[in-house]
Amino acid sequence: MRPDTLNPIFAPVSVLPGVGPRIAKAIETCAGPLVVDLLWHLPSGLIDRTFSPMIAEAPAGVIATLKVRVDSHHKPATRRLPYKVRCSDDSGVLSLVFFHAHEKYLLENLPVGEIRVVSGRTERYGDEIQMVHPDHIAPEAEIDAVQSVEPVYPLTAGLNLKPLSKAIQAALARAPDLAEWCDAAYLERRGWPSWKTALLAAHRPEGEADLDADSTARQRLAYDELLANQMALALLRASMRRIAGREISGDGRLRDIVGARLPFSLTTGQQAAIADIEADLGQPHRMLRLLQGDVGSGKTVVALYAMLIAIEAGSQGALMAPTELLARQHHATLEKLLEESGVTVALLTGRGKKTEREALLRRLAAGEIDIAIGTHALFQSGVDFADLALAVVDEQHRFGVHQRMTLAAKGKGVDVLVMTATPIPRTLMLTAYGDLQSSRLHEKPAGRAAIQTRVLPIDRLGEVTAAVRRAVESAARVYWICPLVEESEALDLAAAEERHAQLKNIFGTRVGLVHGRMKSADKDAQMSAFASGALDILVATTVIEVGIDVPDATIMVVEHAERFGLAQLHQLRGRVGRSDKAGNCLLLYAPPLGETARARLEIMRETDDGFRIAEEDLKLRGAGELLGTRQSGLPELRLADLARHGYLLATARDDARLILERDPELKSERSQALRALLYLFERDAAARYLRSA
Ligand code: ADP
Ligand code: MG
Repeated sequence: MRPDTLNPIFAPVSVLPGVGPRIAKAIETCAGPLVVDLLWHLPSGLIDRTFSPMIAEAPAGVIATLKVRVDSHHKPATRRLPYKVRCSDDSGVLSLVFFHAHEKYLLENLPVGEIRVVSGRTERYGDEIQMVHPDHIAPEAEIDAVQSVEPVYPLTAGLNLKPLSKAIQAALARAPDLAEWCDAAYLERRGWPSWKTALLAAHRPEGEADLDADSTARQRLAYDELLANQMALALLRASMRRIAGREISGDGRLRDIVGARLPFSLTTGQQAAIADIEADLGQPHRMLRLLQGDVGSGKTVVALYAMLIAIEAGSQGALMAPTELLARQHHATLEKLLEESGVTVALLTGRGKKTEREALLRRLAAGEIDIAIGTHALFQSGVDFADLALAVVDEQHRFGVHQRMTLAAKGKGVDVLVMTATPIPRTLMLTAYGDLQSSRLHEKPAGRAAIQTRVLPIDRLGEVTAAVRRAVESAARVYWICPLVEESEALDLAAAEERHAQLKNIFGTRVGLVHGRMKSADKDAQMSAFASGALDILVATTVIEVGIDVPDATIMVVEHAERFGLAQLHQLRGRVGRSDKAGNCLLLYAPPLGETARARLEIMRETDDGFRIAEEDLKLRGAGELLGTRQSGLPELRLADLARHGYLLATARDDARLILERDPELKSERSQALRALLYLFERDAAARYLRSA
């Protein structure tokens, strides 16, 4: 249960004074539905209203707070002219100007003969100093409140600063004092205030420095969020570990047979990853390991060896691919490598005859099939294994691994290996998965030639086709990507079809086309024609992005490269340079290039190092976008900016680990405060693991 102290901020924003249904809706869009969401909605700027000159000394074009006497009201003859209120002080005269004025409101708030404080931007109009629509009009007694530094918040359509600021102030007034969850010595070392003090300070910046991610207030809040995140992950992990696993060890028999058939020797990275996995499998608790390796780094073989260990131990393995196409590819690869080994592999797809599928399922349940390959359908009900020991999830570049990991592992005690092709920056890795075990394949298999990347505007298409012609004449194979964007998919598809027709005109019939709207059988036919060499050029929308392995393809042309994210571009480029033949990547863009797109293409030109690209991607895009947090169910960070606060993460992780080592059920006094922290950052699910502990 959420601690009662948090109730005031876990109420809907509509409980706040001045927040009616319309404003509540707008606040929900820009901050969130709850009062606590407003607390996390930090200022993005400020307006300094402390400058308070006499009227005659006020320069034009500055924000000033002036104490004036109201002299007279001047209602215009027509609504098109502004309403003016003349004011003065001992130094001069100031006109307040209102368009479409409400006379009654102005008469009430600016009564003739009274002193008022007005704040806004000064302007010069002829000889006159004026202020158009002052931001504030207040009685003299409220001068201190007006003459201050005012935070500016990110807004959304239909929500102005004033009502939002007011709602945030009201939200802050409800913020409870919470018992300290941070280690006292750590707080002192950092010079951090309490949570509440930090929160208030973050909302009351006194200068630009207070808006910076490095301000003490923002550091403290970011740390709290990261600590909640790391605690939640540590608790999740502890709870998964409580499900009994099994010790699995193989005698190496099958690995020897398969190893002898491999046309290459394993890289040291592959060997190390396999050793990691073997050690994990031998442990009594469940394995949960991430295998990270750039495209083409050879993850499939690692997965195969992992499954062979399970089979040597008399159990079964499963390999789940993100698409049916990839499942087929994996099946073909493994079947070939497993010839003569006696290991049986089956492909389970949604397609095919029902009777065949049923026969497969029966054999799987009887233990006659050693390795099952398929899409997520593998883990649906109705698919029963005789004795599944290891599930390998090939996620390629898709994130959201954590969720699926828990899914795949649900209650079964099965060991899980997740493979991902987008190297995950260390900071993201930690926030998304905690200290999940991970193996990295750093080097590419030996003998891979480098890929040369060039960035060109689309009007140099002629050069590109000439280069493609030369390549095709010397038997190269070419991918030609025409992206689809959702908003104009039909148009883009037409563009891809047109390019296909055009290239056919130039190169003859050996040009194929695949796109997302094709029947998958047709897609497969085109893909295999390209793989077998029956086609020289394959025009494609991004359907080929994931995991396709055609070692003879050496040229990748990407049109509208500016529309792709870095990770995607890197994935695409990874489709070529998969053999000893040199690869070429031509990134064509439609000018003018935006700043971010330019930076992305520049990085692509500079480096082929997936880990570096992932770090740069994080900087350019921000963590939320990178992880696609909303779809993936991964934690969304509101206060911590991983590009700026990454250094706090390791401490948060160590802190979480230490806390749970000392007090696994969070029973101590400090732990009570930590429970509140979990609820504060809505890690309720994690807090619930405690109860069942
Ligand atoms: P990915 O990590 O992208 O899934 P794959 O497992 O598809 O990579 O491997 C890419 C290619 O590299 C395949 O053709 C595979 O046979 C080959 N390969 C894998 N390991 C090695 C190695 N140690 N030496 C040479 N080639 C290898
Ligand atoms: Mg792969």
